[in-house]
Amino acid sequence: MLNIVLFGPPGAGKGTQSQNLIQKYQLVHLSTGDILRGEISHATPLGLAAKKLMDQGLLVPDEVVIGMISNKLDQNSDAKGFIFDGFPRTVAQAEALDQLLASKGDAISAMIALEVDEVELQKRLWMRGKDSGRPDDQNPEIIKKRIQEYTSKTTQVANYYQSQQKFYAVKGVGSIDEIFGNIVKVIDQL
Ligand code: AMP
Repeated sequence: MLNIVLFGPPGAGKGTQSQNLIQKYQLVHLSTGDILRGEISHATPLGLAAKKLMDQGLLVPDEVVIGMISNKLDQNSDAKGFIFDGFPRTVAQAEALDQLLASKGDAISAMIALEVDEVELQKRLWMRGKDSGRPDDQNPEIIKKRIQEYTSKTTQVANYYQSQQKFYAVKGVGSIDEIFGNIVKVIDQL
């Protein structure tokens, strides 16, 4: 199986590149942010609890997102592989993901990190907020908080995969096709 963690700060282009990757490699796209927004739109108890944190730019608890991913892996047991987008965001999530995959005789193939500087990220999130309607993209303070959460809790996840020799950095600035081409180069040499 091809299991890719697509990594990077909010606004790095993970969602866009995931769409390209699922088409090319026929993978299942698992975005914890999308799953949480689905829960919110159905006003489930999980969604309502998560919304309070998401609206402040804070991470939702590890056990919530790990549970969601575990369900999705079970529901897609015949998949050729997965793109994990926005997950894992903490080392505890990364460890849990390894255990979940190992229990199915599987493993992460690679983490691909999209690298974009902070000024560009803030600009992109602000632009996205105008179109996407996402409340957490529309307030500069919340955007800042999300980038802070990424810096304090999520960047360590890159070290986790680096220590397993599974870390690959790709420049996340340029045209969508150019960035996609660089991601494909990494995957095709795995
Ligand atoms: P995203 O769409 O990936 O930017 O996620 C939007 C929001 O959902 C984040 O700011 C978090 O509040 C929450 N979220 C998404 N994925 C995770 C995760 N893996 N761990 C914790 N919180 C998450």
